[in-house]
Amino acid sequence: MNKVELITCPICSSDENSLLYSVKTWKIVGCNLCQFVYVNPRLTKNELRNLYESEYFHNTDYGYENYEDNNQLKKKNFSKWIQDAQSWMTKVEGKRALDIGCAAGYSLDIYQEIGYEVSGIELDKNMLSQLNDASYTIYDKPILENDYPHKFDVVSLFDVVEHLTDLDVHFEKFATIIETNGVLIIVTPNYNALQRKLKGNKWFQFKPMEHINYFTVESLTQLAEKHGFKRVKSLNSGQYVDADFIQDRLKKYNQKSILLLFSPLLKLIKLLKINLYLDASSIYCVFVKK
Ligand SMILES: [Zn+2]
Repeated sequence: MNKVELITCPICSSDENSLLYSVKTWKIVGCNLCQFVYVNPRLTKNELRNLYESEYFHNTDYGYENYEDNNQLKKKNFSKWIQDAQSWMTKVEGKRALDIGCAAGYSLDIYQEIGYEVSGIELDKNMLSQLNDASYTIYDKPILENDYPHKFDVVSLFDVVEHLTDLDVHFEKFATIIETNGVLIIVTPNYNALQRKLKGNKWFQFKPMEHINYFTVESLTQLAEKHGFKRVKSLNSGQYVDADFIQDRLKKYNQKSILLLFSPLLKLIKLLKINLYLDASSIYCVFVKK
């Protein structure tokens, strides 16, 4: 049995909230005061840590079934997300990047290719054993527990901020480890996504054991601004897919009629080796440290 705890609103600390969705045995609530959406009660911090330390990326109950599947598509996502922030990544000499929750390190490879001195944070033991490349500095403890020997010019959290407890403490930490005019890049599920409105508690981003915060551009901006950041860009974020990926997902979510309907189109996409950048119910934001 998983240990859970009741919490107050992660944004404004109010203890008044209303039930929005039930997902399996979990409750997703909205704060009565600031409208932030979060899971309550949620797993305790210890339980969450256990989740991320062991086989989070090779798991059928939560996390990823096999993270390394579609690695080329994942690399393309990271590459686009980093490129889309490059207008603000202006430092030339001695620039440093930190990716939080770097998994197999695909994002680290991209930072290195464009000339960054690269660091990553990862808790999963299996991933850590793969991240042995001596050219990267890898931290194996959570964000708040590491001593960083210097500040960073770019910090990224790709599909990570929705997993974090103690949001104010974390954003204060980001503010202290990012240089003035440095960049914070965040990709996270978008609570205002059309798919959430259409699918309700069946929205694929509702994973309440691990996704404990549900942001909008506005709530994420409010949190970042409170800690000394300015938003310079926000987009609906997509992800690259190919024909096999679409086919797998349609099967997984039991959409046989759609699969049948699009079968000729999928064959063509496969034949031409096309990658599509499809909406992924997520937001992409770039913040600059003031
Ligand atoms: Zn609140």
